[in-house]
Amino acid sequence: MFVAWMEPSSTALGKTKELIKHGRERIEQTIKASGSRLCLYAERVAFLMDRSRSPDKSTQPSTPTDNINLGPSANPNAKPTDFDFLKVIGKGSFGKVLLAKRKCDGTFYAVKVLHKKTILKKKEQNHIMAERNVLLKNVKHPFLVGLHYSFQTSEKLYFVLDYVNGGELFFHLQRERCFREPRARFYAAEVASAIGYLHSLNIIYRDLKPENILLDCQGHIVLTDFGLCKEGMEQEETTSTFCGTPEYLAPEVLKKQPYDRTVDWWCLGAVLYEMLFGLPPFYSRDVSQMYDNILHKPLQIQGTKTVAACDILQGLLHKDQKRRLGAKTDFLEIKSHVFFSPINWDDLYHKRITPPFNPNVAGPADLRHFDPEFTQEAISASITHTPDLAASSSSASDAFLGFSYAPAEEDI
Ligand code: AMP
Repeated sequence: MFVAWMEPSSTALGKTKELIKHGRERIEQTIKASGSRLCLYAERVAFLMDRSRSPDKSTQPSTPTDNINLGPSANPNAKPTDFDFLKVIGKGSFGKVLLAKRKCDGTFYAVKVLHKKTILKKKEQNHIMAERNVLLKNVKHPFLVGLHYSFQTSEKLYFVLDYVNGGELFFHLQRERCFREPRARFYAAEVASAIGYLHSLNIIYRDLKPENILLDCQGHIVLTDFGLCKEGMEQEETTSTFCGTPEYLAPEVLKKQPYDRTVDWWCLGAVLYEMLFGLPPFYSRDVSQMYDNILHKPLQIQGTKTVAACDILQGLLHKDQKRRLGAKTDFLEIKSHVFFSPINWDDLYHKRITPPFNPNVAGPADLRHFDPEFTQEAISASITHTPDLAASSSSASDAFLGFSYAPAEEDI
C-alpha cells in the first residue's frame, strides 16, 4: 500500500528528495511560525473577544484580572537584569525563547520573552494569561515544562522556565527520518501521559506537534508551548475556535465544527504517524490538497508496521471524533490499547523506564541540539534592559497588570 505523499512514478530517490524537501519546509515553517500562526489566531481571537463580552460569566475565557490573584506571593522585583541572556534558543508565536543564567545563583533557565504590543495588537491577552495559568497548574507533571516565575516590563512579558536541552523531537526526527516502533511508543506514551493529565484538569492542549515536544538531558519528553491550551473544558464541552498547525489539524477543526478533547488524540496520532513514517499523515505539499486529504482521504498505512501500530493509528486518526480512540474514556482508552501493552504506566510516570535515546548533552550550557539559526542570533538589547514600568502610561502594561508572581521558595 502507498502512503499519501507517494506519487505513482516515485522512486526511492524521489521519496528521499521529498522527505528532505519536507524537512526544509518544516524548518522554514518553524522559523516563520509567528507569522503563520498569527493568521490562524485571528479567528480565534475574534471568538475569544466575543465571548469575553458575553454576559454569561461561566462561558467566558479567563481575563487577566480574573486570572491573577497573586497576593503576597507576587514578585514585582524580578527584572531582566537578574539574568545574563546567553543565546536565542527558539522562536515561538509571540516572541523568543532565550537561554539565561540567573546572576544570583548561576542557574540556567529558558526565558520566554513575549512582546505585549504584538500580543495586544492581536488581542491575545486571554491566550497569554491562559498559558501562564496552565504552566502554573502543571509544574508538577514530569513531562510538562515547569514555570518557575514570571515578570514584566512595560513592553515585555518574561516566563522563567526549566531549561530543557535535549533538543526538539522534531530535530531528532528530521535527522533520523523516522523512529522504530519501541522508540516511537516510548515518546507517544510520555506525551499521552502529559495530555491525559491536562485533560484531567479540563485543559485541552490543542497544539501538539514535534516542535513543542522537547527532550530533556536524559531523553524524556517535555511538552512546551501551552499558549493554545484551552482551560475549563468539561468532558462534553466543545469549542469552535480555529487554531493549530495545518498538518495536524483534525477534520472537525478544519471544518470549524465544535471540537473537544479528542482533538488532542488526533494530534497524538499525527505525531505518532510522523515518528513512524517520517511525514505527517495526509501530507501533501499542496496545502489545499492536504486539507482535502484530512477531510476525505482514508488513512493509508504501509504494511511494514505491526498490527497494533496500524490499529492505534486508525483509532487516533479517526475522522469522526465520536468514534475516535479516546472519545469514550479519554486517556484510559489510549493507555489500554494493545500498542501500549509493553508500557508500565506507573514506571513511565516515575521515569523508571530508560529512554531509548540519550541526547548526550554535556551540561546545561550545551546547545548542540538547538538549531544554529537560532543560537547564533544576536540578543536584542531591549530584552536585557529594564524600562521603568511604573512610569509607563502604555495601555499595553495596564492590560497585563498583576502578571508577575513569585513561586514558593521551594519551587525556585
Ligand atoms: P514556544 O514558544 O514554546 O513554541 O517555543 C519555541 C521554541 O523554543 C521551541 O520549539 C523550543 O525549541 C524552544 N523552547 C521553548 N521552551 C523551551 C525550554 N523550556 N527549554 C528549551 N527550549 C525551549
